[in-house]
Amino acid sequence: MYEYDAGFDRATPALVAAPGTAAETAAVVAACARAEVPLVARGAGTGLAGGAIAPGGVVVSTARLRRILEIDTESRAALVEPGVVNLALADALAPHGLLFGPDPASQRCSTIGGNIGNNAGGPHALRYGSVVQHVLGLELILADGTPCAMGGRAPDRAGYDPTPFVVGAEGTVGIVTKAWLRLLPRPEAVRTFLAFFADVESGAEAATAIIAEGIIPAALEMMDAPTIRAVNAAFEAHLPADAGSLLLVELEGPAEECEARHERIVAICRRGGATDIKAAANEEERALLWKARKLGYPALARLAPNNYLMDGVVPRTKLPETLRQVAVIAERYGLLVANMFHIGDGNLHPTLLFDAAVPGTTEKAIEASALILKHCVEVGGALSGEHGIGVEKNQFMRWVFSDADLDTMHRVRDAFDPSGRMNPGKIFPTDEPPRELPLERLKFRFAEDMWV
Ligand SMILES: Cc1cc2nc3c(=O)[nH]c(=O)nc-3n(C[C@H](O)[C@H](O)[C@H](O)COP(=O)(O)OP(=O)(O)OC[C@H]3O[C@@H](n4cnc5c(N)ncnc54)[C@H](O)[C@@H]3O)c2cc1C
Repeated sequence: MYEYDAGFDRATPALVAAPGTAAETAAVVAACARAEVPLVARGAGTGLAGGAIAPGGVVVSTARLRRILEIDTESRAALVEPGVVNLALADALAPHGLLFGPDPASQRCSTIGGNIGNNAGGPHALRYGSVVQHVLGLELILADGTPCAMGGRAPDRAGYDPTPFVVGAEGTVGIVTKAWLRLLPRPEAVRTFLAFFADVESGAEAATAIIAEGIIPAALEMMDAPTIRAVNAAFEAHLPADAGSLLLVELEGPAEECEARHERIVAICRRGGATDIKAAANEEERALLWKARKLGYPALARLAPNNYLMDGVVPRTKLPETLRQVAVIAERYGLLVANMFHIGDGNLHPTLLFDAAVPGTTEKAIEASALILKHCVEVGGALSGEHGIGVEKNQFMRWVFSDADLDTMHRVRDAFDPSGRMNPGKIFPTDEPPRELPLERLKFRFAEDMWV
């Protein structure tokens, strides 16, 4: 189990340690320092970029660090251990009328430590932002076993604030043993509905138009036709089988405001060619609409023996064009592709479906995914919206960052871990030559004004 996460790469660790307290974690880390072996923090292993794999190193599992230590309703802050599962925290906060903003689709199993490691997002990142906006302070164990604390219950510390640097550092600077999290009040009202479209482009254009009108929903998600069909087949979701795409829209806030924004969004969707709109009448129906979205990945996983769930970002205005390119690339490689993603913030998750038993197919999937990411970068996007870099995309970092950029990142990392033993080989490009993409062989039109 500890050889892999939800990504592609595998490696056998030397040892797995499961400390039960911060002091035990420090002892494990100090022992690794004495033995000069690398170590990798691991939450639930749902990461999709190979961040939690530890070739030959020690895996430090947070499975036993799962206590919610304090819920301070007055300061609206919680102190938790890193192994707390995101949904368990949500359940504990609900009776207090509070919530933790980030809700990755993996929230049933992913941990707060892993959410911090990858700076996770999720459907509601559109309204609330990603994890970095919700961490007030951290306690971590540095590479030599020294405990280190930053920030705390109160927001806005003076001086340099290292907390946002540790969030998203993928375990390369230390092992988080406690986190102070910002809590938010639950909204007065929630409105959730689905808008169906004939194709992906019209759905994407409607999503762009909603944001362009200045309306920021709490969540704005898209599923394409293959995903809709997969969810229907796997879970009898009863979504219209002929729909080319759907937008799942959720609004939060004062009841009157939700109502007004709901009407405006419905009008935009109808103008954009929506074939049907289906609103949740109550909490039970809302849960069903979200179930269709959150079970999308397991439904897709049933379509083919293997899949590759990717993560890239493009400016929202580039979404329709990028989705067309994703389809073109998948077709050229003879791969099935399905799209289900956080369209509101331009975060794409094409899922390539294939059978690894057919020789050469895995390589095709990896190559196709690299081309899709290359396109995201070319149109002004980013390598990752929320899954992190890990070993999946570290060789692509040079597409975005100069040597000087990478050197600066290294030097900040070295201030925390001069030994380079915390999760080595992740984020930064290694000495391996970057894989050559067959761009010449594939020369075709990427966008209106761009050939690759
Ligand atoms: C079906 C599915 C849906 C998903 N949906 C989303 C989504 O909507 N949004 C999203 O952002 N991600 C999503 N993910 C990706 C993944 O779930 C998230 O990145 C999640 O935050 C990982 O948490 P984890 O506990 O599984 O961490 P792991 O995979 O165990 O670790 C992730 C990284 O964090 C580091 N880490 C773990 N614990 C610590 C610690 N205590 N201290 C320091 N570093 C640590 C690890 O070293 C590793 O680099 C999804 C994954 C799947 C399989």
